[in-house]
Amino acid sequence: MEEKLKDLAQKLFGKEILDLDDKELYLLLSEFSNNLLNKIEKPKKSDRKLYYFSAEFLLGKLLKNNLSNLGIRDEVKEILSKNGKVIEKAEEFEAEPSLGNGGLGRLAACFMDSFANLGLNAEGIGICYHFGLFRQKFEDYKQKEVKDPWLDDSNALIKTDTKYDVNFKNQKVEATMYDLPISARKDSRSTIHFFDIDSVDESIVKEGISFDKKDIEKNLSLFLYPDDSDEDGQKLRIYQQYFMVSCGGRYILDEYIKNGGKLEEFGDKIRIQINDTHPTMIIPEMIRLLTSKGLSFEKAVEEITKACAYTNHTILQEALEKWNYQMLEDVVPALMPIIEKLDEIVRGKYDNEKVYIIENKKEDEKNPEKLTRIVHMANIAIHFSSKVNGVAQLHSDILVNETLKDFYEIYPDKFENVTNGISFKRFFHNCNEDLTKLIESLIGPEFKDDPNKLEELLKFQDDPEVLDKFLRVKEISKENFSKYVKEKEGVDLDINSIFDVQIKRLHEYKRQQMNALYVIDTYLKIKKGILPKNPITVIFGAKAAPSYYMAKNIIHLILCLQELINKDEDVNKYLKVVMLTNYNVSYAEKIIPATEISEQISLASKEASGTGNMKMMLNGAVTLGTLDGANVEIRDLVGDENIYIFGKKADQIIDLYEKDSYKAKEIYEKNEDIKKAVDFIVSKEILEIGDKEMLESLHNDLINKDYFMALIDLEEYIEVKNKLIEAYTDKRSFAKMAINNIAKAGFFSSDRSIRDYNRKIWNL
Ligand SMILES: *Cc1c(COP(=O)(O)O)cnc(C)c1O
Repeated sequence: MEEKLKDLAQKLFGKEILDLDDKELYLLLSEFSNNLLNKIEKPKKSDRKLYYFSAEFLLGKLLKNNLSNLGIRDEVKEILSKNGKVIEKAEEFEAEPSLGNGGLGRLAACFMDSFANLGLNAEGIGICYHFGLFRQKFEDYKQKEVKDPWLDDSNALIKTDTKYDVNFKNQKVEATMYDLPISARKDSRSTIHFFDIDSVDESIVKEGISFDKKDIEKNLSLFLYPDDSDEDGQKLRIYQQYFMVSCGGRYILDEYIKNGGKLEEFGDKIRIQINDTHPTMIIPEMIRLLTSKGLSFEKAVEEITKACAYTNHTILQEALEKWNYQMLEDVVPALMPIIEKLDEIVRGKYDNEKVYIIENKKEDEKNPEKLTRIVHMANIAIHFSSKVNGVAQLHSDILVNETLKDFYEIYPDKFENVTNGISFKRFFHNCNEDLTKLIESLIGPEFKDDPNKLEELLKFQDDPEVLDKFLRVKEISKENFSKYVKEKEGVDLDINSIFDVQIKRLHEYKRQQMNALYVIDTYLKIKKGILPKNPITVIFGAKAAPSYYMAKNIIHLILCLQELINKDEDVNKYLKVVMLTNYNVSYAEKIIPATEISEQISLASKEASGTGNMKMMLNGAVTLGTLDGANVEIRDLVGDENIYIFGKKADQIIDLYEKDSYKAKEIYEKNEDIKKAVDFIVSKEILEIGDKEMLESLHNDLINKDYFMALIDLEEYIEVKNKLIEAYTDKRSFAKMAINNIAKAGFFSSDRSIRDYNRKIWNL
């Protein structure tokens, strides 16, 4: 291998390995592993093929995982070291492809890993965004967004000869398909097909992430989720969605026909998974394509309904996409007659407005004649799919009993649950080598192929020697992470403090604001001389959507608290706060091994599943959480003695929303400590640091609205969190809880999720 690497270095750069800079080293290794990857044959053509459509693929860096999964990383590392180079430098150089927002996008990426690992005949379809979401910076304790380029220095994508024209109402764009090979093991891989427009122009991005939203021929593939707070932004999202399904749909059909597939058997041979509502237009588009090839409309509807299945990711109304009919018409007029006909089919069969596809909405009561037509994308996806699934048992139950009840009554057999999972390779074996080595020394290597074998760890749960070894590994992870944080954020962390971590998108339902109020409460108590049982470091990582005002206010508060608390010599021995900059997959891989408390504190019923909870459990953290999403399943697996649960239950919360009876102000006025913590947001100390308007707005919202009920669970949260911190002082008993969590995490492998999908939905 050494000779091959040297030859490649000569060929690419005319240099010895020793003389390569980090970028060249990265390109060398990336080229080397890509060549190996591309030699792996695609999975055997089986009778059926799955195409996984997703607006997001939150991939994370590729090189390290590729080398590890190909089984050559140790050897390459040694060769480089012999030639005076450090492999990690090359791996660090890689720009992360952050083509996703959060859990949904990371799920798609984990599923690709599992397709490869299990050797399934399945591929991904997506858009090649040049800047992903955005890169987060902090200025004046506020989030600023800048573009997040990754393509320039990468050679991960392979340009193909596959090209399509995509026709919109007023213009046509030319598309090219780029393939990204996904590794899992020496002999198996998968592929994501990313489509890009040929006329894309990165230079139209000006200040931050702003650009001309009307210039479709240049902007279509620049950003994931461009700001849609105005009509041009909304239209751009429609352009993107149609672009993805139009290219993907034609690719499927071309490949199918090329391989001798018969149109009338399409629904039997092809599987299309619609990841959230964004790719829903594949349904009318595929009907359009099939009818253009000669299939009757009825038959096309039948075949596409058999082929498609839809995954719902949320019960938040704001995320169940609906588009203004006129706007859709302005972008994709060719789909409108099909959507009309689908709506007619539904109206002909069912006498319930809630399941119609097109809603005729009265805009104002004074002028009831004036109707706006709204197209409900989820309703298309539910009627014209063979299966609909939620992503954790509680979420699937809520869909069936509440959110999608009217549909469940029509189609009781359509609904399934498939609990989410994570790639153990990326979030365990490859990011926490010390822990996996320790586990291997205890139970052998079988757990790497069969994660349920992790249960064998239970026999060591009372072995003090093993517990101490585990604690030592955790300590080393904390040291490594602290070094990184010092370098990157300029903050000193105390290894002896408990690392309490909340890393996820910033959203009020996830309740980072509740955690911030815990921080304030603890700060105020320390000031009064009431010290925590163990020093604590509260670590946040979160991006706020650029136009989500309240989320940005919460980031602002956390950054102000960080400034105040970390500088206060009376307090910082016991409490510190860090908001990590630009939380992404690479950051996740660094922090997860170092995590001790996994904060999963969403308002019950609102977090569909969560996958961060699984990653941290697997790496030996103890969950502090509500009975929401997959936390429920984690609790069932590890038992009450190995998890810290608090807060109102989902049915109580759903009831409060139904009766509209939650009043934050009553809690605020009744509970002295809560009042003090909330009011501290606009205290003299914080206002000296922060922005009055933002802080007052947050303060006012918490008292008078608090739509996601941070205050309802605050008192119990503080109490239970402090109990957990106290429990931490008995290190071995804490380690025992951690080991119980690792041992039971096997269920959350994305390989298990994909097997479930295959059994319940695809039958590949
Ligand atoms: C896993 C992951 C998420 C999802 O986290 P949740 O806590 O489930 O919301 C979001 N972002 C990144 C970068 C992740 O790796």
